[in-house]
Formats: sequence, structure tokens, C-alpha cells
Amino acid sequence: MSDDYNCARCGLAFKWEQLIQTPMGNLFCVDCWQAFKNEPLRKCPVDNIDMKKEVVAEIIQVDRCTICGGIWFDKNELKVVQEQWKETGFREAASLGVLGFLGLRV
Ligand SMILES: [Zn+2]
Ligand SMILES: [Zn+2]
Repeated sequence: MSDDYNCARCGLAFKWEQLIQTPMGNLFCVDCWQAFKNEPLRKCPVDNIDMKKEVVAEIIQVDRCTICGGIWFDKNELKVVQEQWKETGFREAASLGVLGFLGLRV
């Protein structure tokens, strides 16, 4: 349908009024925006310290450990990352450090 817009994160089609414009200028559906905003702080599984949130490719937040430099994704985010793999934003982020994959969401 011509009046549908795609959520930048999950790729599903929504009506304009169902979408939220993020500070980065992307359109997110409500579910994705809630997930994005309410991501819990996580501890690095290696160092057990709180990790820093970093936005990657303007659509997902990853957790970066300032000690070991590891970057951790949620399972859901991994899917998004794979879809965005060819985007420049992510390629830059990927070159920044070791990528780790967090298999569980707590
Ligand atoms: Zn979405
Ligand atoms: Zn660490």
C-alpha cells in the first residue's frame, strides 16, 4: 500500500501515525521504539562490569564493555545487524572492536 512506511528496525510496514521518529531520524514502530528506549543495562559476561550503550547503524543499541572492548548484541538485534550488514554505519562499528553475541535476554 502506498501509505505504508517501513519500520527502520524490524522492517514491517506501518501507517505513518503508528510510527515514531527517533532522534537519529529513523522511523520506528512503537514496539521497536520501546525496546530501543528500555534496553536494560547489562554487565559484561567476562568482566562483570556495567557496559556502555552504543547505537550502531542508527537503529540498534549494543552493549560495549570498556575493559575488554567486547560488543554484545541481543538475539533480536543480531538479526537486525545481519540485515544491515552492508550498510556503512555498521561496517564502521564492526571495525571498532571484537563482536560478541549474547544468546540470552534477561
Ligand atoms: Zn519495528
Ligand atoms: Zn568486558
